[in-house]
Amino acid sequence: MIIKCQNVYKKYKDIQALDGLNLSIKKGDIHGLLGPNGAGKSTLINIFASLINHDKGDISIMEQSIPNYFHKIKGKLGFVPQDLAIYEDLTAYENISFFASLYGLRGKERKDKVKKALEFVGLADRQKSQVKTFSGGMKRRLNIACGICHEPEIIFFDEPTVGIDPQSRNHILESIVKLNKQGNTIIYTTHYMEEAQSICDKISIIDHGKILAEGTVSQLVKLVTKYELLYVKIKGESFNKHESNLFLEINGVQSINIEEDGIAITHNGNSGLLENIILQIKNCNRQVASIESRMPNLEDVFLTLTGRTLRD
Ligand code: ADP
Repeated sequence: MIIKCQNVYKKYKDIQALDGLNLSIKKGDIHGLLGPNGAGKSTLINIFASLINHDKGDISIMEQSIPNYFHKIKGKLGFVPQDLAIYEDLTAYENISFFASLYGLRGKERKDKVKKALEFVGLADRQKSQVKTFSGGMKRRLNIACGICHEPEIIFFDEPTVGIDPQSRNHILESIVKLNKQGNTIIYTTHYMEEAQSICDKISIIDHGKILAEGTVSQLVKLVTKYELLYVKIKGESFNKHESNLFLEINGVQSINIEEDGIAITHNGNSGLLENIILQIKNCNRQVASIESRMPNLEDVFLTLTGRTLRD
């Protein structure tokens, strides 16, 4: 394992951000850390980056233990932080060159690597423009170039696609897959289950500073297939919180999630359950438009494990 965390704790005043976290990451994987806002993802990445210290527990990266590892393997690690770490008044080239210098790159080697990073994120033709003229998506791409210009072996991405347009998002996801194909190990934090599902080899579901479950998408989905999933579309307005809670009282219902046009229900297949659900819909003065049964996805796994959705 290229990264190992055993029983890691971190507290900020009265908030327990990491609460006995265990995690193993295999060399060469794209490993997703999937969890809602406040789950503890950035805290963990900031500890890996030596920006903050943990309180308790063992962490090792490339067989070096924290906190002593950093100077030994700093050049092999790349960080793409959630908050943009770039200078608006400098050009794209100058920004990357500055970060490259922090990693000790000089002269021709630095120039070559800056150029390579610019090309990698598709900003070579804008290298001389000041960053303040860039769109949000371009800034995010530049942020990535700054984090990878020194050609690290392990790259940490902390929610790199938050708040950007779909085209830039796809560009970033494709870049990450490309970096992985070149042999890099990637740690990718996100609260978007579609992203985790599409690019990650392995996913750890994190909530309240703990890993709740870990595996490939299909292994995680198998965790909840003892439950079946019904998706009921209704005519007109969807249910409010009070109405939706009434479904939870039906015998055999495990969890519910209100969606724009209906309700998703995980259940244990009790006989008579469907009739009870339809009855409840009528009691709420709604009409069924359609009912379908579908395979659970990662959102359903999270819902079943925590009783909440990823975006709560
Ligand atoms: P995530 O990245 O999953 O959104 P964070 O690691 O940022 O989660 O936060 C975990 C918890 O720690 C949250 O409850 C957050 O409010 C809290 N937290 C994070 N940073 C600080 C800080 N510097 N001071 C106090 N509380 C913090």
